[in-house]
Amino acid sequence: MQPGNGLIGFIGLGVMGGPMAANLVRAGFDVLGYNRSTPAMDRLRDAGGTVATDAADVAARCDVVVTMLPDDLAVSAVYDEALLPKLRPDVVLVDMSTVTPALSRDIASRAATSGAMALDAPVSGGEQGAIEATLSVMVGGDPTTFERMLPVFQAVGKTINHVGEAGAGQTVKAANQLLVGGIIELVSEAILFLEAHGIEQGPALEVLSGGLAGNRILERKSAAMVAREFKPGFRIDLHHKDMGILMSAARDANLPLPLGAIVAQLFIASRARGDGGLDHSALLRNLEALAGR
Ligand code: NAD
Repeated sequence: MQPGNGLIGFIGLGVMGGPMAANLVRAGFDVLGYNRSTPAMDRLRDAGGTVATDAADVAARCDVVVTMLPDDLAVSAVYDEALLPKLRPDVVLVDMSTVTPALSRDIASRAATSGAMALDAPVSGGEQGAIEATLSVMVGGDPTTFERMLPVFQAVGKTINHVGEAGAGQTVKAANQLLVGGIIELVSEAILFLEAHGIEQGPALEVLSGGLAGNRILERKSAAMVAREFKPGFRIDLHHKDMGILMSAARDANLPLPLGAIVAQLFIASRARGDGGLDHSALLRNLEALAGR
């Protein structure tokens, strides 16, 4: 799929999908977008895209359809109602949402019965990565279709790997969410530990970033965490969903993930506190409550 060669549909123009669709336009693709709420569609129009009347309109007019929706429920609804029923054999469906590997496998096999192809291509890199077109894209499904879709992935991402058959992209994304959630918890504990000892955070976190403990959460999120700014970004509610995907896939493989299980519990605690709409770095607030701070 090259720019100027057919129409790309994009369904789900939220925190991630909005800038990703805009980057496809910037790369020269003709983009037909659809989102349940209209302000998101106005933003795509301003960025140079066109908008559809509904998801079925996208399905009828596009050769490639990308979805970037919240969860299994939303993806199933759009695929069942709009994308799969009248699927043409030449169409490629690319789901970039984070969902269960089982749903991605089911979509791929149902697309194949119509002679079409479906890839799962979840991403990592957050809103900033979506805006800057520097996402990591982990792709499961037919390798030849992956090669054909590379220009689409290159318009939104920087590190793009085919990681296995249908569903494999989602399995790799679950491992990603284990790492990100666990590291956020550890950075939170380090911040509160330093605070408890009256250490100035700026120089301390900077020197930690330069050593073996250095990581992207420290680099990108620790300053906002120290300032207790938790505007999303990536919401606690979505990371909670991803920890559910991870723990269920680990159970399927008979694999214990002891630290992952604790982090999954901490996300539940955050939601119970009413923090579900905050950035996932707000895991820090749990720890403050636990420490009576
Ligand atoms: P979001 O809630 O901001 O965006 C989802 C969009 O889908 C919303 O605009 C919503 O109106 C729209 N939508 C929902 N149901 C719809 C339907 N039936 N038809 C049309 N539009 C519909 O979510 P997001 O942060 O953009 O995340 C999207 C996906 O990407 C999720 O699976 C999330 O886990 C994953 N993800 C998010 C981030 C991040 O930092 N936000 C990073 C990596 C991956």
